[in-house]
Amino acid sequence: MLKIALIGCTGSIGRQTADIVRRYPDRFSFSSLACGSAGEELAALCREFAPRRALCAGGAFEPPAGVERIEEGDAAALFADCDVALIAAGGFSGLRYTLLAAQAGVRIALANKESLVCGGELVLRAVKRYGAQLVPVDSEHSAIFQCLAFRRDAAFDRLVLTASGGPFLHLSQEELRRVTAADALRHPTWNMGAKITVDSATLLNKGYEVIEAHWLYDAPFEKIDAVVHPESIVHSLVLFSDGAALAQLGYPDMRVPIQLALTYPERLPCEKPLDLAALGRLTFLPFPAEKFPCYGLAVAAGKAGGTLPVVLNAAAEEAVRAFLAGRITFPAIAETIQDALGSFPREEADSFERLAGTDARVRAHALSFIYGKSAS
Ligand code: MG
Repeated sequence: MLKIALIGCTGSIGRQTADIVRRYPDRFSFSSLACGSAGEELAALCREFAPRRALCAGGAFEPPAGVERIEEGDAAALFADCDVALIAAGGFSGLRYTLLAAQAGVRIALANKESLVCGGELVLRAVKRYGAQLVPVDSEHSAIFQCLAFRRDAAFDRLVLTASGGPFLHLSQEELRRVTAADALRHPTWNMGAKITVDSATLLNKGYEVIEAHWLYDAPFEKIDAVVHPESIVHSLVLFSDGAALAQLGYPDMRVPIQLALTYPERLPCEKPLDLAALGRLTFLPFPAEKFPCYGLAVAAGKAGGTLPVVLNAAAEEAVRAFLAGRITFPAIAETIQDALGSFPREEADSFERLAGTDARVRAHALSFIYGKSAS
């Protein structure tokens, strides 16, 4: 029985993880459940899965009998007796939990992108120091992990991340000015949370994945490429020095990489088998980095390192929130990020406190930039 501490149990990845545990009750159980603010849903999950501990970071939450309520300051207790910490919280707030899980020396199934985007240096250092293990959940990094035979330290020549291109791939700059949050939330292939769906439309998400690949596979940025693949069947590729390329294919269903992160190298039944003849063809297009500036901003911040990826992310989180609320246009997401990156100097990413301080300052700055925008 694999005991899972699930952080972010009421989000998209968290709910799909609960589905997996429902399907294999003899293989998996939850030792801890945590969420941001959906206290009622957390209580319902506690009644269904009977974890030992539960945490609700904000909002009302009444744990059922037998479940210990953990306060945010004691979050390390969530990882006390788990085999796997599945970090599926959204945003910068996930980083703290990833660091606590690393300090507990457990296997970390990482679905929170911001942990490596913002805190890659700190996370890798803690994983090494405390003998933890880092396993990717994101479909692209899971694909690379599989192509490298489940080794993060394997040799390769290049990594190629595939991208659906999002819903706005073929729109003109003029049309991009008029798209709404509802348009952005209509992702062509993947069903995900709101923030990451907008990040897939701006292609910021692919920039984040480049930074994640850099940390996960010790890959120089020059050796990471992205290509558009609208069908989302090829989840990513690894190129080797002899010209051979290995790819991982499958229908776009996050339950496959979630489940594999829990069980690898073993595989359990999940999706239906791939039917290539029914698909007929797979297409690939050059990555439109010029049209979607968020990608280049992310890669540049990743290369510069230090606190700059935190600046990128904090501005992006506030900009996407404003876009979802109808306060700014789609291109203003990139403008908000660019302004923040031009307004904060690079500092060393030497402690979580430093990153958290930067995060808070950038959010305040981005909010004033956004309000200035919407007032004009
Ligand atoms: Mg992905």
